[in-house]
Amino acid sequence: MKIAILGAGGFVGSHMVEHLIARGEHDVVGVDVTDEKLEGISGRNFKFLEGDISGETPLMDKVIRESDLVVDLVAYANPSLYVSSPLEVFELNFIQNLRVAKICMQHRKKLIQYSSAEVYGKLEEGKHYTEDESDSVFGPTHKQRWIYAAGKALLERVIYAHGAAGDLEYVIIRPFNFIGSRIDYLVSPGTMGGPRVFAHFMSALLSGGPIHLVEGGRYHRAFLHIEEATTAFQTILDHPEQSRNQIFNIGNPNNNTTIRDMAYLMVDLYEEITGEPAKSEIRDITGEDFYGPGYEDSDRLPPDISKLRLLGWTPKHNLRKTLRDTMEYYINNAAEVEVLRRFLPDQTKRYGGFVDPRPRQAS
Ligand code: UDP
Repeated sequence: MKIAILGAGGFVGSHMVEHLIARGEHDVVGVDVTDEKLEGISGRNFKFLEGDISGETPLMDKVIRESDLVVDLVAYANPSLYVSSPLEVFELNFIQNLRVAKICMQHRKKLIQYSSAEVYGKLEEGKHYTEDESDSVFGPTHKQRWIYAAGKALLERVIYAHGAAGDLEYVIIRPFNFIGSRIDYLVSPGTMGGPRVFAHFMSALLSGGPIHLVEGGRYHRAFLHIEEATTAFQTILDHPEQSRNQIFNIGNPNNNTTIRDMAYLMVDLYEEITGEPAKSEIRDITGEDFYGPGYEDSDRLPPDISKLRLLGWTPKHNLRKTLRDTMEYYINNAAEVEVLRRFLPDQTKRYGGFVDPRPRQAS
């Protein structure tokens, strides 16, 4: 089969490509605006095309027409962007992803669309994140964080409607806090907003700067090892009939933690891995001070993964191993550590506020 992976150069995409190259069963074409996270990843069954799903209709049209399956991973998926750049988030995560779905329909190609755990919003304690039963509860319109969730939820609904009308064969995936090597670029000490929580804590530990706990770190997340996110994807590929026009949560309900406990666990692991005492102080901060106005935090309940378990997939890596593997990658990767000494503010716009550890030649 020919698989097109849109967003192949990102965290999830680069791991997916690595996995598919190693299995060698399919021809894979990866499209992205950058292939930096694909450095060192190559194979005879893999081709990378530099391109932007937002711009080039002829390129997207050709890539999709020549594929049997399209996997769409393209999205801005960092909460600080939802409040700082809500319109860009909506444009890419809804308008442009919908355009991909429409090209798939035109050429009658199957689509695997990565959505988000955020589509559940903020359900109360005692409810479950179950694909075909749960409600979605979003905050008020002026809390701009929810533009991401609302955009993803609307995209799912449009895809679902086309599926129901017989125009599109699809699978929708709702990822729950995947974590692993290459997740995000590190940030300079004291940066507010920017990438996801792991990169903040890791940067703080490497630089000796403070670890900030937003709202005391009281909210929960359940982290899934990226290797197991990839095997979940493979399970879906292996079950085309059972997964046709279905929605799947992918996550590890056993790795549920508060962000505060995660911070203390990362401090322990840092000391265990490096043999040095961690110098970072752990400080509380409000969501508004960290992300700016319009941010609203929320507890994320652990996912119900029974649908995927029925297809034979079960995650096994506990939180300690999941964090340890990810931290070892950053601790052992000198280029990534180096960034703390070379903060390049002019690069931050392109990367949505992140520091790029390897400056690009042109942008
Ligand atoms: N968070 C934190 N300190 C940081 C960065 C994030 O306490 O330096 C919190 C954030 O407020 C949220 C959780 O960590 O409660 C997870 O945030 P993340 O950015 O990883 O993404 P999310 O899971 O919300 O999509």
